[in-house]
Amino acid sequence: MSRLIFLGPPGAGKGTQAKLLSESLGIPHISTGDILRAAVAEQTDLGQEAKAYMDAGELVPDGLILSMVEERLTQRDADSGWILDGFPRNAPQAVALDAMLQRLNQTYSHVINLDVPDDVLIERLLKRGQQLGRSDDTEAVIRHRLQVYREQTSPLIDFYSERQQLQRVDGDQAPATVTAELKGTIQKTA
Ligand code: AMP
Repeated sequence: MSRLIFLGPPGAGKGTQAKLLSESLGIPHISTGDILRAAVAEQTDLGQEAKAYMDAGELVPDGLILSMVEERLTQRDADSGWILDGFPRNAPQAVALDAMLQRLNQTYSHVINLDVPDDVLIERLLKRGQQLGRSDDTEAVIRHRLQVYREQTSPLIDFYSERQQLQRVDGDQAPATVTAELKGTIQKTA
């Protein structure tokens, strides 16, 4: 069973690749950013609490994220596997994920980091901001999100490497090549 954790900086292509893999593996793509953006659009309590953090490029408080993820993982379609995209985002979330999975009697099968150099990320994110009009894809917020990534999220690379669980894929290639490498990585170690 595939239960994948997708790590990588903003703009690495996690969302695009996770969506493709989710379709080809028939398992849900669980993007915390997508769930939060939907909550903001629907003006739910969660959305109203999360919006200011998202607009500033800051992480939304762990408590909100953890209950949101646990609720999502207990939905029936997640019984057959899942792809987590954008979560965990810091060490406390990674530790909490372990505990959550233990409660749910699940374990992850792969942790994959999509590597992409900074200059490519900034270029991609600026383009996405123009195309999709995402309110957090302006240059100042992009730079801040990359800084938050470096400070809070990138330590997860060591966290999972030390457990010999990290697999790396070069995300600075044509999207179809990245997809093929991801599929190879998952199959080799399924
Ligand atoms: P993303 O679409 O993954 O780039 O997420 C967009 C924004 O949603 C981030 O900049 C954060 O403000 C928030 N967010 C998404 N996932 C998380 C998470 N796991 N923890 C905290 N904040 C998150």
